[in-house]
Amino acid sequence: MDLSYPPEAEEFRAEIRQWLEDHLPEGWGTPERTMSKSERRDFANAWAEQLHEGGWICASWPAEYGGKGLSLLQQVVLHEEFARVQAPLRADFFGDTLVGPTLLQWGTEEQKKEFIPRILAGTVSWCQGFSEPDAGSDLASLSTKAELDGDEWVINGQKVWTTQAQYADYVFLLARTNPDAPKHAGISYLLVPMDQPGIEVRPIEQVDGTAEFNEVFFTGARCPKDNVVGGVDNGWKVAMTTLGFERGSSATTGHRRFAREFDVIVAEARARGKDKDPLVRQRLARAWSNVKIMEINGYRSLTDALSGTRHAAALGACNKMFWSETHQQTMELAMDILGLDGQVLMGDGEGGEAMPGVRRGRDGYPIGDLQASFFFSRSETIWGGTAQIQRNIVGERVLGLPKEPAP
Ligand SMILES: Cc1cc2nc3c(=O)[nH]c(=O)nc-3n(C[C@H](O)[C@H](O)[C@H](O)COP(=O)(O)OP(=O)(O)OC[C@H]3O[C@@H](n4cnc5c(N)ncnc54)[C@H](O)[C@@H]3O)c2cc1C
Repeated sequence: MDLSYPPEAEEFRAEIRQWLEDHLPEGWGTPERTMSKSERRDFANAWAEQLHEGGWICASWPAEYGGKGLSLLQQVVLHEEFARVQAPLRADFFGDTLVGPTLLQWGTEEQKKEFIPRILAGTVSWCQGFSEPDAGSDLASLSTKAELDGDEWVINGQKVWTTQAQYADYVFLLARTNPDAPKHAGISYLLVPMDQPGIEVRPIEQVDGTAEFNEVFFTGARCPKDNVVGGVDNGWKVAMTTLGFERGSSATTGHRRFAREFDVIVAEARARGKDKDPLVRQRLARAWSNVKIMEINGYRSLTDALSGTRHAAALGACNKMFWSETHQQTMELAMDILGLDGQVLMGDGEGGEAMPGVRRGRDGYPIGDLQASFFFSRSETIWGGTAQIQRNIVGERVLGLPKEPAP
């Protein structure tokens, strides 16, 4: 496999590198430069503005909607350069990677004009209202309803596990708009403003002390009739595009956070003399090999996307299953290395600099970086399609096994 990039990609790399050098704060990435919680927040706000000015947020989007129309390889290079210096490259996860691309594909001209510039400017935040108490893996069983009342949809029902609902300006949600149609038909994809009396958000506290996801109750909540994306009763198809956007652009950088975390785990092992334990050494070697496999899988996904062989769904399922399960094993190893220390709150409430982006406990519940990552790894085999569901996809689409019988 030839892993070198064509000269024009390398020219583009130099351009990004220069931009980062010109814009990142002095001393960025050096051990001396540390930031408190509030400094981190200020930096994030200022950085989002600079990214917008540079045109780097969603830079693959068409120029007519404010993007730069980057090719896939240029996007890969962009991600690689930002990841190399650990500079954030995102305004709002749900806007940038889910609802934005969905609107570009399915939205009306009015919807694109209303929402796309705000997503690019980072001035609107989103949450995803798909899962319900009785509809997770089997999403098509959802029962939240939307009915037309004049020029508005009226929504009643409940969503759950809705990440960031407490901060979001809008929810993109799936609601049943035709109860008489078969399960997958009769669902619509709606854009609903969160700040209204018919919506109640109740945060759910997680094991790491944070409360990032929520129960969301809709009681006569409203949105304009025109906020349906992709046509009334066509929401299942639209949702499948939202869930299926291939992550080609970050294929070669996805492993990096695991590689950085691995270095932190090795440093802990050394500091505690556990690096002499043959069993620990064996498990560390396994963890390192797994990160390398993730890296190679990333190149495989990129090659697939560049050569148009279209195995994205199968590769995506294999990759998700692999990284989420192996990451859990690695974090169990990290806890074994920490030993009894891992059983007490190890953080200082600020979060270390070695693993930027790692989630931290709430105020008064200061967990350390490795503890935070251990806790969150438990959820990684659930969100974005559980490991078992990925196995079904691999079984049916890759191995050609018979389809799972319907219940
Ligand atoms: C951290 C986190 C953040 C999330 N954020 C969001 C969000 O922002 N918005 C949103 O809409 N949802 C969100 N979710 C929800 C997530 O999408 C669902 O949890 C997931 O789809 C699984 O659904 P469920 O929890 O109802 O489990 P279930 O579907 O009830 O599954 C329970 C168990 O049964 C297994 N199972 C189910 N069906 C099958 C099958 N056919 N074959 C084999 N095994 C099966 C599953 O693998 C699992 O082990 C989030 C979840 C987590 C953990």
